[in-house]
Amino acid sequence: MRENLHPEYKKTTVTCACGNEIETASTKDNLKVDICSKCHPFFTGKQKLVDTGGRVDRFNKRYKKENA
Ligand SMILES: [Zn+2]
Repeated sequence: MRENLHPEYKKTTVTCACGNEIETASTKDNLKVDICSKCHPFFTGKQKLVDTGGRVDRFNKRYKKENA
């Protein structure tokens, strides 16, 4: 029997630039993100110096749209 016909979801750890680690399921190992729910200003209510070129602003708009 052949295995790996489909990518298998497994437990992995997503590491954020802020140091937060999130356990999730993914086909990839050890994912890295620049921003997460713990350090994102939308969630923390604090403005942080992470907005480079309106990137966070775009993220905010998209997030609000998707969760309206
Ligand atoms: Zn973070």
